[in-house]
Amino acid sequence: MKHIFQDKSNGINYRRLENIAPIIECSSCGRNVLEELARTNSSICPFCGNDFRMKAHDRMEQILDNGSFKETNKSMSSVDKLHFPDYTKKLNKYKKSSGLKEAVVTGIGAIDGRKVAIAIMDAQFMMGSMGTVVGQKIVSLTEHATKNKLPLIIFCASGGARMQEGVLSLMQMSRCSIALNRHSEKGLLYISVLTHPTTGGVTASFAMQGDIILAEPGALIGFAGPRVIEQTVKQELPDGFQRSEHLIEHGMIDNIILRRNMKYTLSHLLKLHTPFDGGAL
Ligand SMILES: [Zn+2]
Repeated sequence: MKHIFQDKSNGINYRRLENIAPIIECSSCGRNVLEELARTNSSICPFCGNDFRMKAHDRMEQILDNGSFKETNKSMSSVDKLHFPDYTKKLNKYKKSSGLKEAVVTGIGAIDGRKVAIAIMDAQFMMGSMGTVVGQKIVSLTEHATKNKLPLIIFCASGGARMQEGVLSLMQMSRCSIALNRHSEKGLLYISVLTHPTTGGVTASFAMQGDIILAEPGALIGFAGPRVIEQTVKQELPDGFQRSEHLIEHGMIDNIILRRNMKYTLSHLLKLHTPFDGGAL
């Protein structure tokens, strides 16, 4: 397999290879990597360590104990309530390209034997935007975690509220926040993990409500985009503004965790903060 990790200058005909298996071009080092091999390497570039966008189910596989995941609300899917032009067409397109029904996958699983409620957003589906179904799936999962005294982990990846659902999508911010507050009032642990990108209404609600907030290296995390802020404050923004490394310096997040260490870190945090019930799933 070694030769597959070589670049164009090494004589591999990538165009021919692409007919057999999809290839990703690394946005950081510009080299070509077979998608399937990147997937088995935690979606990390083998040349420069850059994190590729990770699919929700791949992340579930990486984080949870083998075979422990039970998905909830799997078939829940958005509808075009406001008759927004082309919304149904877009939904169908993303369902087909991502193989998902919506921009978040939720369920119950285990990390080193500890039961957790977990939600993973997937930026492949309409940039992980939050509409009514994303909101509802997160609220249902949080309520389930509260009722069953489970810790909750949410991996965020979002462009923000879904404009095609207007005010209905904005309402999800407060719905999620209220559900999380009830979870917190029971003394239960909520860990949010911010991945690239976490922006808009998701940042303004559940992403920043974690008892512990972790982030992947280099993730863009913010409410409004840098261009909008620059135009508003009429100042040039510092280098790396809104990236994880900038946020940790300013006390906005608790730690930056390499993808390959994520399961170990979550497991350790769960061990420190939750009693071990050892119960079967
Ligand atoms: Zn790279």
